[in-house]
Amino acid sequence: MHPRRIVSTAPIDKIAIDILQEVAPVEIAPSPDESTMLTLLEGTVGLVARGTEGSITQRIIQGCEMLRVIGRPGVGYDTVDVAFATQQLIPVVYAPIGGFAVAEGALAILMAIVKKIQLADSILKSGQWRRRYEMSSGDLTGHTLGIIGVGRIGARLAKLVQNFEMTVLGYDPFLKKENLREVCLELVQLEELLRRADFISVHVPLNDHTRGMINQERVSQMKSGAIFINTSRGGVVESLDVLADALESGHLGAVGLDVFPTEPPDVSHRLFRHPRFVGAPHLVGVSDLAMERMYRSMATDMVAVLQGRRPQYCVNPEVCKKLAES
Ligand code: NAD
Repeated sequence: MHPRRIVSTAPIDKIAIDILQEVAPVEIAPSPDESTMLTLLEGTVGLVARGTEGSITQRIIQGCEMLRVIGRPGVGYDTVDVAFATQQLIPVVYAPIGGFAVAEGALAILMAIVKKIQLADSILKSGQWRRRYEMSSGDLTGHTLGIIGVGRIGARLAKLVQNFEMTVLGYDPFLKKENLREVCLELVQLEELLRRADFISVHVPLNDHTRGMINQERVSQMKSGAIFINTSRGGVVESLDVLADALESGHLGAVGLDVFPTEPPDVSHRLFRHPRFVGAPHLVGVSDLAMERMYRSMATDMVAVLQGRRPQYCVNPEVCKKLAES
């Protein structure tokens, strides 16, 4: 029999490994796909779902006889079959504490687009100084930002832009009042947000209701020249074609994406060649501070579960409650 181990779908930081090794050695799967993961389940007491390339599926959970906890070093847990884990009484711990980096990242992408930082940089470095006389950049000041999903990250973004003299609109049908503490925004319906916002930033979780919510019809409802930013999950946008079409027709002013419907995306898609597209490889949440906090939190919570204690951040707290009572 294989000795106890914890298996991660992709490399994780030393901070997490050091903490997890208190209970079992950590093994990194050579590939996150299901067939590889299925070969690594013997003796596995904990699974780490790192990245978005692989998923902790029902088959993996079912095949993992000694499994006691699943960990996600981040806030989105759409790569874990939480419903099945819950049914099997497996706690899924996560780390909803790094959102500040995503809010900063969304703002950085927006500002890079509005201030044309990439173009300015290339003009300078290619010795085209005089092109500055043909160029101008935009402003956040005096413009309207629309935030779709006013949770931890969306609310943080609203707070970050408060000194820009902007109008901030929010759409969130399930808004939790505590997220609005010290945040000043006008809550509106989605149609109104799309119609009024110069800049739109999406911060919803990926689920059956949000999958494909930014489709051709919704894009056509956006203001002409609007800048669309998505740092939530790629699947929230129906397809890259929808965005590429809107850029090519001139309806959208620019698009900034950190996340893609499939990751890694096929970068031969025409969107990636459009001059008004700015992208990042699912990176904005991966700041030093955010990762350190998230790894520490996830690993500490996984160890807590493995040692029979309650974790701090659990996606399915009802499981922890049941385990504590049993
Ligand atoms: P959160 O749960 O605090 O906030 C999500 C908000 O979206 C909630 O207020 C919820 O009510 C709202 N919402 C749900 N369905 C909606 C809908 N149909 N329309 C409008 N609003 C809706 O989560 P968070 O911590 O703010 O994170 C948001 C998402 O960002 C995560 O689910 C994750 O997928 C993504 N994320 C991305 C990165 C990255 O690296 N790019 C990192 C962290 C999180």
